[in-house]
Amino acid sequence: MNFNSHSDMIVAHAVAVVNALTPGERRGRPYQIPADRRTAVAEAVPLRREITDAEAAELAGYALDLRAVFEAVAKGDLDHAAGTLNRLLTDTRARPHLSRHDGEPWHVHFHGADGTFGADYAASCATGLAIVLGSDLHDRLGVCTADRCDRVYVDVSRNGTRRFCSTACQNRVKTAAFRART
Ligand SMILES: [Zn+2]
Repeated sequence: MNFNSHSDMIVAHAVAVVNALTPGERRGRPYQIPADRRTAVAEAVPLRREITDAEAAELAGYALDLRAVFEAVAKGDLDHAAGTLNRLLTDTRARPHLSRHDGEPWHVHFHGADGTFGADYAASCATGLAIVLGSDLHDRLGVCTADRCDRVYVDVSRNGTRRFCSTACQNRVKTAAFRART
């Protein structure tokens, strides 16, 4: 995609957060948020420090709103997606803020320096999705169309024809279609 690399990264993180922290179905099986939410977050996205369960819980709350954005885009309801994102951007106090830490050069964070972990992380995710929604690649956010799966994805393919969360789901659908034919 044509976004800068930081935007691409935070969109990928938004996908990972939604898929780890919202219940539903995954690749043909029911999916529950793991009881150990801290580990679920740590496995989904890179963290600079260990987080508490309360911090993971706060992010899980925002993950439901982030999921709603993917669902709205998948249904073609861009107005709803935009409204949800604008509310999230306000609630999480998203704003650009130049930061320098851990030996890195100055770079832009999409949250201030005084927020909570969950709100700050959600502010970044919401900003990344807002950049996608405000671009001509706005239809690249999706929800897996395979049977019994509702995991989300961002389509970074050249022609924008992705329909599944994973190769696993794509193969499940191919196999089912093959069985139906034979
Ligand atoms: Zn899937």
